[in-house]
Amino acid sequence: MLYQRSSRLFAEAEKVIPGGVNSPVRAFRAVGGTPIFVKSAKGAYLYDEDGNRLIDYINSWGPMILGHAYDPVVEAITEKAKLGTSFGMPTELETEIAALAVSMVPGIDKIRFVNSGTEACMSAVRLARGFTKRDKIIKFAGCYHGHSDSFLIQAGSGAITFGTPNSPGVTAGTAKDTLLATYNDLDNVRRLIDANPKEIAAIIIEPVAGNMGCIAPAEGFLEGLRALCDADGILLIFDEVMTGFRLAKGGAQELFSIQADIVAFGKVIGGGLPVGAFAARAEIMNYLAPLGPVYQAGTLSGNPLAMAAGLAMLRQLNADGNIFNRLEEKTAYLEKGIREVLTAHAIAHTINRVGSMISVHFDHRPVTDFKSAGNGDNERFRKFFHGLVEAGVYIAPSAYETWFISDALTYDDLDFTIAAIDKVAKSLI
Ligand SMILES: *Cc1c(COP(=O)(O)O)cnc(C)c1O
Repeated sequence: MLYQRSSRLFAEAEKVIPGGVNSPVRAFRAVGGTPIFVKSAKGAYLYDEDGNRLIDYINSWGPMILGHAYDPVVEAITEKAKLGTSFGMPTELETEIAALAVSMVPGIDKIRFVNSGTEACMSAVRLARGFTKRDKIIKFAGCYHGHSDSFLIQAGSGAITFGTPNSPGVTAGTAKDTLLATYNDLDNVRRLIDANPKEIAAIIIEPVAGNMGCIAPAEGFLEGLRALCDADGILLIFDEVMTGFRLAKGGAQELFSIQADIVAFGKVIGGGLPVGAFAARAEIMNYLAPLGPVYQAGTLSGNPLAMAAGLAMLRQLNADGNIFNRLEEKTAYLEKGIREVLTAHAIAHTINRVGSMISVHFDHRPVTDFKSAGNGDNERFRKFFHGLVEAGVYIAPSAYETWFISDALTYDDLDFTIAAIDKVAKSLI
């Protein structure tokens, strides 16, 4: 494949945009090479600036669950745009999407819309702190909750009481209120709570981790967190920015039958436009301004184009009784195909999957937390990535990312992909 135009466009972009990109992982630093510039996309396919076609397994990092340029979403945006694109005043559309979201997700009475998953998580934590009148939060190493200060904390050596900033610009003062725990390790969480009794406002977690590859919660882990929260007056925040409206209508809460106190959304809820949201029972949501003391606002929050796209997407997901089964079946088919191929070539691997989230790790050991996610063979992943791109298949340009399966993928696309992996696997041995 040729990437002349992409290379030229990237060189131009680097002059005026840091690293040439508006979000770091797009720069391909983890896999090397030059980012591919997209010209358009439809259904399961991306078309780049050099005229190459790629089968897309990232789908804008999740939002395009029904495929790119999905007609009802495109029509909704187009129609709304003619009526004005932003008012800074309420619209009926906001109530429509709110009511639909509240009906689809278990245990929430009210929802507020923001412009990104980052904003949703940041606001959810502020709300939890205001509601509980406590400062500290627990987050899990390897979980990503957007780029706001209190989340950019990495694990030091195992469970440490106070986090250390992993990004310059995050103050020590902020970092000390973020306690780090190990994913799938309930004892570790219990010890943190015991060391900080009645001081922790919230535990925030990706109920299925998707930002260190895909990692499922161990049996009883989420239930255990729920019980620990209840015993100490801590609010449980599910960051469902990835899992919401993807694993089920009601997201991970529905899939695992666990009720969180606050839920954060992004990605699918915006149908491909910049949308995030956070939701809870009324008692908690009423703590927000203008009803309550916790401040949160947004000039473009509830933007009519964004709400039209999100509403069209949620309506489709709500109306299609079989969508989540179909996604499950397609992704299970892909998983089986990849496993057979890698096994046949004797390439050490672990494939993790929950519903339509899947990741391939090049190591034979189980991947259950941030540490084990790091066991993978990065050199092998690089070759795998570039080999697949060459074959016309686009996966995430990092071993730490989940693939997001869309319903636009056909079984022919999946077979094509498995055959491509079979070919690439030969070069991995
Ligand atoms: C993507 C993501 C975010 C951040 O959302 P943005 O819209 O990129 O700000 C937060 N949490 C999780 C779990 C995510 O996957």
